[in-house]
Amino acid sequence: MKNISIIGSTGSIGTQALDIVRANGDIRVSAISCGKNIDLVEKQAREFKPELVSVSSEDDARDLRVRLADTSVRVASGMEGLIEVATYPKAEMVLTAIVGMIGVEPTLAAIDAGKDIALANKETLVTAGHLVMKAAADKGVRILPVDSEHSAIFQSLQGNSRNKIARILLTASGGPFRGKTREELKCVTVEQALKHPNWSMGAKITIDSASMVNKGLEVIEAHWLFNTDIKDIEVLIQPQSIIHSAVEYEDGAVIAQMGTPDMKLPIQYAFYYPERRYLAGERLDFKKIRSIVIESPDFDTFRGVPLAIKASEIGGSMPTVMNEANEIANAAFLAGRISFLEIYDMIEYAMSQHTVIQDAGLIDILETRDWTDRLLKDKYGV
Ligand code: NDP
Repeated sequence: MKNISIIGSTGSIGTQALDIVRANGDIRVSAISCGKNIDLVEKQAREFKPELVSVSSEDDARDLRVRLADTSVRVASGMEGLIEVATYPKAEMVLTAIVGMIGVEPTLAAIDAGKDIALANKETLVTAGHLVMKAAADKGVRILPVDSEHSAIFQSLQGNSRNKIARILLTASGGPFRGKTREELKCVTVEQALKHPNWSMGAKITIDSASMVNKGLEVIEAHWLFNTDIKDIEVLIQPQSIIHSAVEYEDGAVIAQMGTPDMKLPIQYAFYYPERRYLAGERLDFKKIRSIVIESPDFDTFRGVPLAIKASEIGGSMPTVMNEANEIANAAFLAGRISFLEIYDMIEYAMSQHTVIQDAGLIDILETRDWTDRLLKDKYGV
């Protein structure tokens, strides 16, 4: 029996992870956390019987304690509760399925407590990749990618630990606005941006996919996970989401992982690595597909990738500014307070105003996040 904790159990990744737990029957969920969805977390607590549940606010925690009074589940709240879930002694692995850089502290705490990490929460690697990877190496814990592209790269690397990578080919669907011009993007709505052609995901990552900021974050994520120079990561548009990403070796061989778009595969692979298990679901039918489409990305229009590359090349605290400005802009767009193209403007503005802190430690990263919040509040009122 494997014991895991999940931070973000009520989200898109969290609920799919629990589907896998349910289907396999040999994983015990020791602790879970969510933000505000206490109805769902209560159901999850009753079904999976974790020992600890954490929610964002103490008010919700009080309510949940009353609801779960007939069980032995303990309820915690806030960052303290989140860290308690991430470091829960019985868990050997933590799935980081929380959204945003709020995941930095619990992830670092989990690593410090010696837990393997099944990492979905990319914002943590974007902002604190240098700290996370060093801490993981120091503690001898594994960071197993859950993001589908990074899982694909990880799978394509199996059996090749002695061979040198020439390039990582990071694929992107292009999102709902693929092929649109800047002019056409001026008036796109939240509803349109939330209609991802291939994947059903949480709201934040769906908007990030539409702006391709998601792919920018993923370039930085790949850079840290696979210790690869940013220049050796090429983004390609693969609108069918069949090739989930690939690795090109020195001899020119390209090894890719393909499949239907289903996040359960990378989640399950991270849970049971290196074992592959049966997973119910649709299979690729090459006779029906007939051709695989690859296109070049339009980075002049979709500036998410170049902005992330710039932030990563500057380094230090700049990726935190890029990420946090995007978190604020993404939420403001979702709330109907800014236009789609202003997402890029806000990121660019914040990056242009920042004096970089090199070798940023955790405190610097958190202070940079707060600095970015204040800056954008002053300028845009969001
Ligand atoms: P969702 O928005 O669906 O879920 C986010 C989870 O985090 C929920 O459980 C939510 O709780 C919790 N949460 C949000 N804010 C807080 C907070 N302040 N304190 C505590 N918990 C909080 O996100 P996704 O599942 O889509 O994404 C999760 C992560 O995985 C992201 O980093 C994303 O980039 C990454 N990812 C997601 C993919 C996907 O297919 N969805 C694919 C690849 C990567 P509540 O429900 O109560 O709000």
